[in-house]
Amino acid sequence: MQISKKEQADIRDKLLAEKTEFNKRVTTIHQNAKNPLDADSAEQAAQIGNVAVVSALESEAVTELAHIDAALQRLESGNYGTCVSCGERISIGRLLARPASTECVDCAELDSPG
Ligand SMILES: [Zn+2]
Repeated sequence: MQISKKEQADIRDKLLAEKTEFNKRVTTIHQNAKNPLDADSAEQAAQIGNVAVVSALESEAVTELAHIDAALQRLESGNYGTCVSCGERISIGRLLARPASTECVDCAELDSPG
C-alpha cells in the first residue's frame, strides 16, 4: 500500500509540529537550567533532584528530534513508511498516530516487551 500525497502532507505537517514542540521543550529546559539555585538548602536539594529529571527529559527530547528529522528525510527520499527491521510497510494508521515510527507494530512490540 502506497502512502497518498495527502497522507504524506499530513505526516509532514505532524512531524514539523512535533519538531517545533520538542525544540520549544529543549529551549525551556535550557532556560530553566540557567536559573541559579535557590539559597535555601531544602530548595537546593529539590532542585538538584530536578536537574537529573530535566537532563533525562532533555535527552528524550533530543532523541525524538533526531527521529523526527530522520522521518522527514525519509519522506523526502521516498523511503518513508517502510519498517527498518522487516522491510514491510508500516500501516498508515500507525504512521499517522506516530509519524516518526521506524518499525511496524509487530517489530516495535518485539523490541519493547511488556
Ligand atoms: Zn517490521
